[in-house]
Amino acid sequence: MPINSQRWFMRKEDYELRQANPDSPFRSFDVKCLKCGCYKLTLTAHYDEQTGESFLLFFCTRCRRQEQIPIKI
Ligand SMILES: [Zn+2]
Repeated sequence: MPINSQRWFMRKEDYELRQANPDSPFRSFDVKCLKCGCYKLTLTAHYDEQTGESFLLFFCTRCRRQEQIPIKI
């Protein structure tokens, strides 16, 4: 981690918005697979009839890791 004083030496580029990864479905967020580092994720919405809860499923197209994100309605 850089120490605070190094902030004084940030270049102009450091202040500009970072570009999204072209492989990522996200344009404003940096979301990648923590297992393999891949940005190629798919997002699907699901509804669990047993629990009555909706959730999003993030799916890594490279290593097939997945994660459920609850949807708050
Ligand atoms: Zn992955």
